[in-house]
Amino acid sequence: MSVLSIAPYFPFRRIKIIGQTVTPDAAGAHIHAEPDKRFQPICQVCGQRASGTHSWTQRRIRDLSFATAQTWITCRYRKVFCAHCQGIHVEDLELFHPYLRVTIRLARYIYQLCRFMTVTEVARHLGIDWKTVKNIDKFYLEHDYGQPDLKGLRILAVDEISIRKGHNYLTVVLDFLAGRIVFVGKKRTAKTLKRFFNQLSISQRKKIEAVAMDMWDPFIKAVNDKLPNAKIVFDLFHVVANFSRVIDKVRNREYRKASKEDKAVFKGAKYLLLKNRRNVRKQSHRNQLKKLLALNQAINTVMILKEKLKHIWTYRSRSWAAKALDHWCNLARSLNIRSVNTFVNMLQRHRYGIINRCDYPIHTGKLEGVNNKIKVIKRKAYGFHDLRYFTLKIYQAFSN
Ligand SMILES: [Zn+2]
Repeated sequence: MSVLSIAPYFPFRRIKIIGQTVTPDAAGAHIHAEPDKRFQPICQVCGQRASGTHSWTQRRIRDLSFATAQTWITCRYRKVFCAHCQGIHVEDLELFHPYLRVTIRLARYIYQLCRFMTVTEVARHLGIDWKTVKNIDKFYLEHDYGQPDLKGLRILAVDEISIRKGHNYLTVVLDFLAGRIVFVGKKRTAKTLKRFFNQLSISQRKKIEAVAMDMWDPFIKAVNDKLPNAKIVFDLFHVVANFSRVIDKVRNREYRKASKEDKAVFKGAKYLLLKNRRNVRKQSHRNQLKKLLALNQAINTVMILKEKLKHIWTYRSRSWAAKALDHWCNLARSLNIRSVNTFVNMLQRHRYGIINRCDYPIHTGKLEGVNNKIKVIKRKAYGFHDLRYFTLKIYQAFSN
């Protein structure tokens, strides 16, 4: 008989390995364990010493694989009387959580894998039910990221993310300075954002100096109602994206007016107009763009306006920024196009948040990262069916 022992592979303090069975092909191993009687049982719930044994039972749990063998531990354990909790609870053997069907060390391994692999991949890799894998990942995520630290927030960025084509949105709040996500909420209403602000104490809310966002009235309202000292800063990217939609409308209008021959030039020009002019490389595309711009003064002008619009966000002085904004608005109004005028009015209504950028040069750009990561997270988190799980995965992805 060999003197080699497998016991060192199971360094669990409170249990003794008393036997093992390995299948002939070494594909499965069954380890038998029982509590080490030198230790007095302790309560799983409160960690206090138990006052007596209620009953004995056993369970079979998966452990890390041992060589080629999927390994199970069948462990006897006690249900104990706990004077502290005044109840009957499972004893803590530091081997398994009462609700997880795997050892703690396997659970931690699953948690690590879920950071890089999808739930299905992990489940397949280990030969474990995907629901178990997901529950384990969620359990540890809740422990590590369930309560985002809301102390010392000063600068925030708020944005929405679209989770299904069309209408399903989530509101996401970023601690701008730390780069952490501190809130994910259903929909993109004022109520959604207020729910986050209500988690903060009055003094915490007073300390928030600035919030970067899109010109989205519900978010503006929530900030105005709840954050007495916060300056709103509108994000350049969103404003330019809005203006690009105006360019599109102008183009469509001009197209409707154009002759048949000119219409050929317009064809396929939408993406050329929306593209940054510097990025139009192909000679034939350049020629098409040139013709198109010459063909129509209005399109030419809105293109120039788009470039100039970005420039307003570069000022450091409030008075210069205000002047540049007014200048831009006058230029845009001179075109006398309805969709452009609507945009100008919208911009003027929100001028405070454009000029505030001089004091707080902040943006929602970091939240674009959420949109990029979201596809990956969605895959890992089994879509959006479990919003809490999805939220925790986002917290984790942005925790650095
Ligand atoms: Zn207890």
